[in-house]
Amino acid sequence: MKVVVIGGGAAGMMAALTAAEDCRNQVTVLERQSRVGRKLLATGNGRCNLTNLHASAAHYHGQNPAFAAPALAAFSVADTLEFFRALGLLTVAEDSGRIYPFSDQANSVVDVLRFALERRGVDVRCGCEVVSVGKKARGYRVKTAETEFYGDRLIIACGGAAGGKLGGTDLGYRLLQSLGHSVTAIRPSLVQLKTDGVHGLKGVRADAGLTLKRGAAVAQTAGEVQFTDFGVSGPAVFELSREARPGDILLLDLLRPLAESDLADYLAQKRLSASSLPLEEFLTGMLHNRLGRVVLRQMGLDLSRTAGSLTDRELQAIAHTIKFFPLTVSGTLGLEQAQVTAGGVLTAEFRPDTLESRLCPGVFAAGEVLDIDGDCGGFNLQWAWSSGRLAGRLGL
Ligand SMILES: Cc1cc2nc3c(=O)[nH]c(=O)nc-3n(C[C@H](O)[C@H](O)[C@H](O)COP(=O)(O)OP(=O)(O)OC[C@H]3O[C@@H](n4cnc5c(N)ncnc54)[C@H](O)[C@@H]3O)c2cc1C
Repeated sequence: MKVVVIGGGAAGMMAALTAAEDCRNQVTVLERQSRVGRKLLATGNGRCNLTNLHASAAHYHGQNPAFAAPALAAFSVADTLEFFRALGLLTVAEDSGRIYPFSDQANSVVDVLRFALERRGVDVRCGCEVVSVGKKARGYRVKTAETEFYGDRLIIACGGAAGGKLGGTDLGYRLLQSLGHSVTAIRPSLVQLKTDGVHGLKGVRADAGLTLKRGAAVAQTAGEVQFTDFGVSGPAVFELSREARPGDILLLDLLRPLAESDLADYLAQKRLSASSLPLEEFLTGMLHNRLGRVVLRQMGLDLSRTAGSLTDRELQAIAHTIKFFPLTVSGTLGLEQAQVTAGGVLTAEFRPDTLESRLCPGVFAAGEVLDIDGDCGGFNLQWAWSSGRLAGRLGL
């Protein structure tokens, strides 16, 4: 059977390798960039967080996150690690469950996949952008600018629109739309947030609790927050970012270990024991110095006053601001900077047990092009591996 895989990213390479396990299949990968796995090289800050020990459907989002479950069950984290081990890739798990190549280099992941594609005789064509697909009496016609391919089976693994500089594009959505499929609204996920209130904090990191509010709380998490010149970044911010909308309030709990009342008591003791301390240094030793000053300034306090001059009411207010430090969200850095696209091709139009189109028999989709996105921590690549594996089985 002739199998054409559109997209040589994580899902496409996995799908091609799987389809090529049946030596009767003649598999071609068409990749628009000059090499396969370009985005993979940039993952995990160049280390490639290729999966997570805790991967389960609970870590995925979309109109129907349960759609991901059969693929994740059919090719689990353990299966993925075994698969890569057989290709020659050794991995290591961090305490958080995140898994990286032992070499700490993303190119190790790309290289073992490339070598395997070569060994299995997959025809990999780079610099080959697919511009249209169409049904024939039997199978499908695939057109690039220069030439035409024929596939009895088609696997569309063009990824999402996030990370444009690394190859993110909406072409996959458009190809599937041309076959009659629908696409949900898309938006950036795992992305930095633009906020007010961070002047002077660039480079500061804090372990914080995060609550995103739009009236009521819409999302909550905890972890490292990195302040930037435009807002906030870091793993915990990424986690909330898919829910963030302009106008939302992000409340940071900057001293998680202490309840607000205990913090107020502690500050009252400090007012006594360090009464001559200028307010500028009042929070030194509790928070990053710069963060402490921004908290006090945001409250409108004159930092040249002494700690001893603080009223009980002001002490309570400082404790409250540390526990609920508010930043107003004005937006995100957008799809260009995002790690993943929330939304995509409607999963209801595909069979979850095979990833075959319900509209076009013989067409399969895998990876980020579908309306499934994962949490930060290796879950998106696990979806690419699991869905690529399932699609590559071609419904058999
Ligand atoms: C900076 C960054 C860091 C990330 N880090 C991590 C991480 O550490 N862990 C994790 O789990 N996830 C991470 N992700 C997310 C993860 O990389 C993606 O979710 C994953 O690569 C999606 O796999 P995919 O195969 O569906 O798409 P992609 O990997 O994007 O591959 C799609 C491929 O299709 C090609 N293509 C598109 N259209 C066409 C066309 N018409 N014709 C031919 N070729 C086409 C593209 O050029 C691309 O190579 C990161 C993303 C970014 C941007």
